[in-house]
Amino acid sequence: MPATALQLALPVPLPTLFDYTPPPGHMAGPGDVGRRLRVPFGPREMVGIVTGLVPSAPDAPPLREALGFLEPCPVLTGELWDSLHWLARYLHAPLGEVLATALPATLRRGEALPDIADHGWQLTEAGYTALPSLRAGAPRQLAEWLQAQGQCPEMRLDIAQPGWRAPMRSLHKRGLVEEIDMTMWPPVPTPQIGPTLNHAQQAAADAIRAANGYAPFLLDGVTGSGKTEVYLDAIADCLARGRQALVLVPEIGLTPQMLARFEQRLGVPVHALHSGLNDNERARTWWAAANGSAQVIVGTRSAVFVPLPNAGLIVIDEEHDSSYKQFDGIRYHARDFAIVRAKTMGIPVVLGSATPSLETLQNAQAGRYSMLRLTERAGDAKPPRVRVLDVRKRPLQAGMAPEMLSAIRSAIDAGGQVLVFKNRRGYAPMLLCHDCGWSAHCPRCSTPDKPTPMTAHAGGKRLQCHHCGNRRPAPSACPDCAGLALEPQGNGTERIEELLAAQFTDVPVIRIDRGSTQRRDALQQHFDTLGSQPGILIGTQMLAKGHDLPNLTLVAVVGIDEGLYSADFRSGEKLSQLLVQVAGRAGRADKPGEVLLQTHHPDHPLLHTLINGGYHAFADEELALRDAASLPPYAHLAVLRAEAKHVDAPTRFLAEAKHLLEGVNADVQAMQLHGPLPAPMPRRAGYQRMQLVISASQRKTLHQALGTVMPTIRTLPDARKLRWSLDVDAVDL
Ligand code: ADP
Ligand code: ZN
Ligand code: ZN
Repeated sequence: MPATALQLALPVPLPTLFDYTPPPGHMAGPGDVGRRLRVPFGPREMVGIVTGLVPSAPDAPPLREALGFLEPCPVLTGELWDSLHWLARYLHAPLGEVLATALPATLRRGEALPDIADHGWQLTEAGYTALPSLRAGAPRQLAEWLQAQGQCPEMRLDIAQPGWRAPMRSLHKRGLVEEIDMTMWPPVPTPQIGPTLNHAQQAAADAIRAANGYAPFLLDGVTGSGKTEVYLDAIADCLARGRQALVLVPEIGLTPQMLARFEQRLGVPVHALHSGLNDNERARTWWAAANGSAQVIVGTRSAVFVPLPNAGLIVIDEEHDSSYKQFDGIRYHARDFAIVRAKTMGIPVVLGSATPSLETLQNAQAGRYSMLRLTERAGDAKPPRVRVLDVRKRPLQAGMAPEMLSAIRSAIDAGGQVLVFKNRRGYAPMLLCHDCGWSAHCPRCSTPDKPTPMTAHAGGKRLQCHHCGNRRPAPSACPDCAGLALEPQGNGTERIEELLAAQFTDVPVIRIDRGSTQRRDALQQHFDTLGSQPGILIGTQMLAKGHDLPNLTLVAVVGIDEGLYSADFRSGEKLSQLLVQVAGRAGRADKPGEVLLQTHHPDHPLLHTLINGGYHAFADEELALRDAASLPPYAHLAVLRAEAKHVDAPTRFLAEAKHLLEGVNADVQAMQLHGPLPAPMPRRAGYQRMQLVISASQRKTLHQALGTVMPTIRTLPDARKLRWSLDVDAVDL
């Protein structure tokens, strides 16, 4: 009988699988599939996943011997295993890299499976005694919180006290806290009752409850219409059937408050998965999902990879959000993969948004998804009034018209809060010499044809490239003419903050953007600082997403004009979503809200359609245009990108790829190839970037062609020297 070898997927950029003889003393069997195995690879050691068994031919060269399994059971099984194979085929990506992406980092690195016993913490006797005399700071704050909680499981700490481990260690060293076993701990108090669902919510909830097997729903509800209540109802029903629920949310939407609301309402522990957790915490949640002890998992993009052996429901909140698409490595789309998984598992999947993506709307129109609509705000909240402010010829201060400033004054005087939205962070988008016209450009991102300005920060004293992160002090004199007339041009959030802080000295003026708010909890701290008192928030798109600000009465939209004339075919969709979402922040509770939108293009068709007809009027027009132009969702795209210090190699590589693709399909109607052309950003961080866009009206045509040529493309001589990638269903072209 021929000996059996193990076939492995390894995290390497090669489309092949690798054969090894089993580790000493092990007889390979079907139960090995999905297990982690340590193997020698070249001079190194690697962790791979067993994908199957192969007979080892006696006359073939001897195989290398595997070193050992990491655990006695598979880590990837069942539906997730099958879906990941599908994903690798769909993205034309190496299976080993896809499997590695799906695993939590600790497991990928070969660390042991996490311990998911329920650990918790409590204050010791000494802790209670010492508490009043502790110095102010994180340990004291944590100790006070623990005092209020009594005993607290680590899972709860992860959610309510992000970053608790360091202060806990310091308390532990001093003997003020002790670790306890919480297996017997009653997890969460009895669920709180939510508001009674209104008619539309109830109809949506009933439809989801009635679903049997795979059933995709688009929950299309205006901001504040109570979509979350519908999700909660569906999750409660899923739990009542004894099944697991997965909820995907955009990066910025996953706040401790949101998790707490879910826990209180569902009455079970909610397991979080987001970038604010460390690798061990993430691995614990992943593994708790795998063994079924995690019933509700709420997470950002990569949570789409949690194993769900007992799944009952998937919810994707803000399904249009761009954070669901992974922009490097394995370029998956979490929403799309979630739908594939739901289909494989035969369960309902709910996509919620006030501004659904055109892909999803088209799926709904074609009857592939059931449409559930919430057209009115829940409770007593009224939709905001939108006014366009024509600022042509008006004197502007920090880019704001006098009417805008007086509207802010009135809102503040009436006791309200104001959100000023500006889609540009920094002080000014450009530093210009008024004497000779020189301007500061990023040396690493500019080309002779396309200079990339550096953004002025810190009142114009520092320069920063928002594309590659390059920073330097601003010159004090013009490098070209030595003149001193360097002036920041245009306006960013910092400049608006400077003006408003000077004009509104009586209320807090808080800037929220990636510059001021690096940490996840910082955002909430900003909101807490403001509380319900009158004040001004200034921010970029970070502020556009689902935060509930009940006292917000005015949304001032400043400077969206840059977005109105962009070349990207998706720019209209993105701008409309942003405008509608940001406008939706106003008047969430009992206070009526107003949106003031200042522009130099009051007659722009997009604004006209949005303001008179709303997002759906825009979407209908846009879908018709996309159809006529054969653009997604009516065509299917993949982009092959390549970059290098010099432009020749990427161009050659893409030209060869194009040649291969042309050889596959003689029918030019079925598939179109554009390029090789410079990428929209032709140079970044010193790399010249080229792209080849491949499009087809039929998904099948595209995938057959890619399936045929990708193995050859990987073996091209340039493929090893260049940075290159294939992006199936690319969203940024
Ligand atoms: P969305 O996610 O659609 O923007 P939310 O679910 O956050 O909306 O609900 C908006 C607000 O309306 C929340 O404060 C919520 O508590 C409240 N709300 C939702 N449904 C109801 C209801 N049926 N009755 C009263 N208030 C509700
Ligand atoms: Zn000059
Ligand atoms: Zn740069």
